[in-house]
Amino acid sequence: MDDRQFRNAMGKFATGVTVVAAEVDGRVHGMTANAFMSVSLNPKLVVVSIAEKAQMLEKIKQSWAFSVNILAANQQDLSMIFAGQVKNNQEVAFDHLDGVPVVPNALAQISCKVSATHEEGDHTLFIGKVTDIQVNDSEPLIYYSGKYRSLAED
Ligand code: FAD
Repeated sequence: MDDRQFRNAMGKFATGVTVVAAEVDGRVHGMTANAFMSVSLNPKLVVVSIAEKAQMLEKIKQSWAFSVNILAANQQDLSMIFAGQVKNNQEVAFDHLDGVPVVPNALAQISCKVSATHEEGDHTLFIGKVTDIQVNDSEPLIYYSGKYRSLAED
């Protein structure tokens, strides 16, 4: 099985899109991620999977805290910026939730402290203990088969 076949198969899993954010020495670093899921209700835990080559890996290890921001349909531009798909020379402004940087107007802002890490293959799983949540009501950004989508109208 080659990498392309694996990627194609994984791309058939339609997901939302998140931006993971962490702050080190007053500088916020954001990264687009869809390898995100809820892990446990009691205690409230989530997980994100970060590539070993991603700068975000060291940022989370240094700050030991991160946020997961579920993007709204009108935030595709932010997804592209934080995936490095478009060049952006301007700092993006972040709000803070429980001391952790969060993306303004995201569908959900979830602040976490690192509870555990697990290295597997070329990624590290960060289990986050959820410390606070802010939810907004609008439509989600969807990612499927390597393309951005939106939910179809009824
Ligand atoms: P960089 O590549 O250096 O940064 C990413 C971009 O964000 C750069 O252009 C940088 O300028 C910009 N940026 C960062 N902080 C700021 C700021 N404060 N203000 C303005 N711009 C800023 N990778 C994974 O490891 N796990 C995943 O689950 C995952 N899911 C993905 C899902 C989708 C839909 C897409 C498109 C990509 C996904 N990726 C995932 C790939 C990942 O987003 C990219 O490889 C990303 O470039 C890695 O970021 P980095 O931390 O290495 O930092």
